[in-house]
This record gives sequence, C-alpha cells and structure tokens, in this order.
Amino acid sequence: MPGGPGAGAGNGAAGVNLPALRSHNAALVLDLLRTAGAFGISRLELAERTGLTPQAVSKITARLRADGLATEAGHRASTGGKPRTVLRLVPEAGHAAGLHLDRDELTVVLCDLAGAVVAERRAPLDLGAGADAVVEGAAAEVEALLGGVSPLGVGVALPGPLDHALGVLHRVTGFPEWDGFALRDALAGRLGLPVVVDKDTNAAALGVAVGAGARSGSGSAGGGSFAYLHLGTGLGAGLVIGGAVHRGARTGAGEFGHQVIQLDGPLCECGNRGCIEVLCLDAVGRGAVAEAARVLGAGAANLVGLLDIDLVLLGGRTVAAHEEVFLQGVGAVLAERARREGGGTAVPVRVAPGGARGVAEGAAQLLLAPLFGRGEG
Ligand SMILES: [Zn+2]
Repeated sequence: MPGGPGAGAGNGAAGVNLPALRSHNAALVLDLLRTAGAFGISRLELAERTGLTPQAVSKITARLRADGLATEAGHRASTGGKPRTVLRLVPEAGHAAGLHLDRDELTVVLCDLAGAVVAERRAPLDLGAGADAVVEGAAAEVEALLGGVSPLGVGVALPGPLDHALGVLHRVTGFPEWDGFALRDALAGRLGLPVVVDKDTNAAALGVAVGAGARSGSGSAGGGSFAYLHLGTGLGAGLVIGGAVHRGARTGAGEFGHQVIQLDGPLCECGNRGCIEVLCLDAVGRGAVAEAARVLGAGAANLVGLLDIDLVLLGGRTVAAHEEVFLQGVGAVLAERARREGGGTAVPVRVAPGGARGVAEGAAQLLLAPLFGRGEG
C-alpha cells in the first residue's frame, strides 16, 4: 500500500463516505461534533468555534448528515431567537480496529468513531515465533473480532524501533529477526484492509491525547505537552508536544529506554551498557521496585528538563503492578529536581488512563484521529 501514515484510509472503508472528510473544514466540524458528545452542538456554535461562515457550516453538516456521520440531537432554547437544532456525531457510523502486539500477548479492540471500545479480544502471542506465524495469528484474531463489521482499517502498535511512515520494523530489542520486515504491507495484504503501524508508546500517547477520555480544550492532555512512559516488558516513551504526537524526522523519536545513564553498567539487550531499561528491569527482577522507580524518575527528570513538558504519565504492566511505588518514586525525583532548580512546582506524575488496553485503543486512533484532524504533528 503506497503513501505515508494513514495512507489508504480511503480504501475499502465501507459504511463511511470518506471523500466528505478529506476537507480540513469538515474534519474541524466533525471534531467539534465528536467532543460535544451526545449533548450535541448547534450550527451557530459550530460556526463560532471554527470561524467558518454559517453557510459553509450548513453545507458541511448537510453532507455529514447525508453520509450518516451526523444527526439531529433535538432542540435547545436560545437567547431571544427560535430554538436551535443541535447536531451530534453518529459514533456507530464507522469503526477502526486497534491491535497491540506485545512480546507475549496480543490485544485487539474495535472502536467506534467516538473512540469507545465496542468489542475486545486477547490471546497469547510469541513475538519470536516468526513473521508468518505472528501475521497469521494476529490476522485471525482481527477477523474474529470484526465479525461482519467492515472497519476503516487496522492500527497496529508494537515495541519499536520502527518506521511509522513505511510500516517497516527495525531491530526490536530481543527480537532482531524482525529487522526490515514490512509489517504494514504484510498485514494489509492478508486482511484486505488499510493498516497503519506505530510504536506502542506513540499509540498509547495518541490515545491519551485524542481518545474517548480526552476532550479538546479540557482535561490534562487537551492541546498540551506530555510524556507517556511505558514500562512493561521493555521501556519506551511517547511524546505529545502541543497536542500532537512527536515522531521526529525518521519517526524514531521516543527511544527513551536505551539512554545510557550508568557507564559500564549492566549489559542491555540492545548492546549498550547501563541503559535506563536494563537498570529498571534488573531492579524489578530482584524485587527492588523502589530502586526501579528512582531510575525511571531520573530518566523522566531528564526528559522534563529537555522538553519542558506539562505532565508525565506512567503506563505498562510493570507500572500497573506497583502503581503507588512508581508514582511516589518518580514524583520524588521530579520534586527534588524542581526544588533545586527553583521557579515553581514539580511537573505532576500520574498513571495513564486506559489501563491494560490503552495501547490497543490508541492503535485504533491511528485510523480515527486523522478523520478529526487530530493527533498528527
Ligand atoms: Zn539498551
């Protein structure tokens, strides 16, 4: 499948008339409908919020209604004039699948246009079983999940490094045999659906920035900048700068885990010594979780110092197993750094929303977010 990220999102998207969404203005209107939820929003408010003329808004909403993407949500009293008709998004008008391939388990979710999960499956996975077996196993799970639904496409999230634009994997730590594998094209060919591939950390960060729990202009992540640090079977980061996922020139940004912070430290699977990842995982392995949290905190503090972000979010199953220890340990390092630097309070640390399926939900947003003009830098 040719093209860059999101390429082919117009192919085979039964149920949604995508040409209507190719316009930037239509995406703006659709995003406001999405964030208004079931309450809805009037055409006048849409015009005020987008800066478009009422005529332009009427034309766009007529097309969205004709395509089944928007519908009337009743009437609301207005000051002085006649009651206004409010419109809302029709979430069930389209779906996207999100597939999370972890080293030992896969999770696949089906999300509606609003990002809500409507179906979910989990299965054991051996990421080292070879490309053919993994692609076939993942495709079978996706097909079982879909039933008769024809989605916009499938977002796939897995450990990096990888090339998001081309959908080609690089040398995944611990699984060097994946280096150079064109996962996007293999899965798209097998499923006959558009596929977008990204790192698990970027998918989770995207899910936080624009997912079902996020609302534009409000909440911790709306339009802001944050780092999502994922400590599971590996350690990586997803960076959201100004509301958009920061992937970098070669889509390689966020390789947080393999920063060397202890020269001549223990050997990491990546070949370096003393990486944050190996120090964290070693500490967890011998039950020294507070020490792992301190190491993670040192890395988080470096990131905060480099990027001046608003928030640090922690996720992944190792964090989930010891939430309080990690929140306290990372928070303490950030507080100590802020105290020494002066000038205000420490950047807050929280557990990322979304839980165990946050990465899979974010993977579905790889297809959904572009429809609403969201999430791309
Ligand atoms: Zn390393």
